[in-house]
Amino acid sequence: MRLLLVEDNESIGKGIHSGLSQAGYAVDWVKDGITAQSALSNEAYDIAVLDLGLPQQSGLDVLADLRAKGNAVPVLILTARDTVNDRIIGLDHGADDYMVKPFDLDELNARIRAILRRSSGRSNPKIVHGDIEIDPASHTVTKAGEVVDLPPRAFAILQTLLENAGRVMSRTRLEESMYSWKDEIESNAVEVHIHTIRKKLGSELIRTIRGVGYIVDKPK
Ligand code: CA
Repeated sequence: MRLLLVEDNESIGKGIHSGLSQAGYAVDWVKDGITAQSALSNEAYDIAVLDLGLPQQSGLDVLADLRAKGNAVPVLILTARDTVNDRIIGLDHGADDYMVKPFDLDELNARIRAILRRSSGRSNPKIVHGDIEIDPASHTVTKAGEVVDLPPRAFAILQTLLENAGRVMSRTRLEESMYSWKDEIESNAVEVHIHTIRKKLGSELIRTIRGVGYIVDKPK
């Protein structure tokens, strides 16, 4: 899952960046409104965590611009502005959730999971596909009730494929779900992780669509 963090405060930003990276997200961190705008128009994020008081362009302007362009990426506002009116304005500008600083990192994580769950149209916190179940909160995978060990990046690929079951995911899209800007992309990483997933969960789960990408068919 790829996440954009927009936060101009160094120490708060560092804390969130490390907490969310540890939780398994590929996090890109930007520190002003203009850079946030360009990141959001150039990259495919699964979610954005947005501060409101930002240099150059306010978080509300970034959000308004995003929605005006028809970009539906889920946005969680994380700000020190705590009046009821601030919350109403934030939500009415198109935010999906609103959290006030100081905040608890575990709660931020839980809210992000809830937003991602809703945005993928699930009500169940676990992703279920036939006898395979994955739990994004604990990063666990089971097949027929047995726990299967997957490295974090293979887990990210599997989650993206299962959440988009029935749709072909390009190699680039899968790479984006695993990496943030600061990571170096190994050229055959997607293939390696797909190989691992097939070995652990069965070769028939993921189909290769030559020259296009990979697909997990919808369960019958
Ligand atoms: Ca700020």
